[in-house]
Amino acid sequence: MSVRVGVIGGGQLARMMIPAAVNLGLEIRVLAENEGSSAQLAATQVGDYHDPQTVLEFASTVDVVTFDHEHVPESILRQLVARGHAVHPGPDALQFAQDKIRMRQRLGELGVAMPEWAAVTSEDELAEFLEAHGGEAVLKTARGGYDGKGVRVIRDAAEAADWLRILDEDANGGALLVEELVDFRRELAQLVARRPSGQVALWPVVETVQRGGVCSEVFAPAPGASERLAQVAASIATLIAEELGVTGVLAVELFETTDDRLLVNELAMRPHNSGHWSLDGSLTSQFEQHLRAVLDLPLGATDVRAPWSVMVNVLGGPDSGSLTDTYGAALADQPTVKVHTYGKAPRPGRKVGHVTAVSDDLDDAVFRARSVAALLGSDL
Ligand code: ADP
Repeated sequence: MSVRVGVIGGGQLARMMIPAAVNLGLEIRVLAENEGSSAQLAATQVGDYHDPQTVLEFASTVDVVTFDHEHVPESILRQLVARGHAVHPGPDALQFAQDKIRMRQRLGELGVAMPEWAAVTSEDELAEFLEAHGGEAVLKTARGGYDGKGVRVIRDAAEAADWLRILDEDANGGALLVEELVDFRRELAQLVARRPSGQVALWPVVETVQRGGVCSEVFAPAPGASERLAQVAASIATLIAEELGVTGVLAVELFETTDDRLLVNELAMRPHNSGHWSLDGSLTSQFEQHLRAVLDLPLGATDVRAPWSVMVNVLGGPDSGSLTDTYGAALADQPTVKVHTYGKAPRPGRKVGHVTAVSDDLDDAVFRARSVAALLGSDL
């Protein structure tokens, strides 16, 4: 019988694990949130991942459980582990991707460079932080944020009133995370994969471009990155993966500051948008590597296939119809660009696919990838 991998969550990350699983001869099963999910091809169960019974039932049909997102409640993950299920990444690591305050505390203990931060529960505490940091700051909900939701720049403590009210209503208490507004030159991401037995493999550090809090483009490797910068990024990610005991792919989002420091923004413990380029630009994609890692199989080589890979996300626009309507023109325009679609209805701003161009020349890859994304109707 083949090895069965179970993925909780039926989004595009689960979807892109499917071909990798097929090639590795694995059986892949997905617990999807709804019918017609991005990963419906492998969705053996549709159910609510907040429900312990649903998740336990799903776990009993597979050999290892992994994730498309980090939102499965920690208490459920601990129940799975207590019942002897293999969960990768496990809750001891995943808690730091689920809660940004815990992440800041733990990375602080490890001496990792970060933006200055505080956990606050009142407007007074927030006002104090603002005063000490030039009157502006970034406020974040500790849990449940993604794609910039749960992140806002504030200049007055009163702007936090709505989120503080929700905290008060939350029986579990909790706090908001406030950070200095970092003056960054650009954003970077360092991906690393780690097996339970310890082997790690890194891809080159990449530059990510965000628009409206959503990743829009990735340049791999980060243009102009010095060897020293690449080394520092790699050593930060390796340290975090090892010290937190991460298994599978870990994405470390970084700020490169105007005074040449690397500060950790946040962590994702799963394949990540900043690694989609690896499907076409690396010998081993992040999806294949994630599966190898969570099964404790030897990791694949992460050498690049070309000097430059450029990934552009395809976001649904206000008028976009089905993505496939625009295929003909897009594929004809640039036969060398690889198109990946997620089988999602194109609502405005929603990630519905991505394209990757690889080249010896960065400008050429940027031009070709952007052209195809535009022809696909992306709201660039
Ligand atoms: P999410 O969990 O939604 O991805 P992030 O914490 O990554 O949220 O923040 C989203 C974006 O907001 C970042 O990619 C960055 O552009 C900006 N941002 C976040 N924190 C800071 C900060 N401390 N200083 C400046 N910009 C920030």
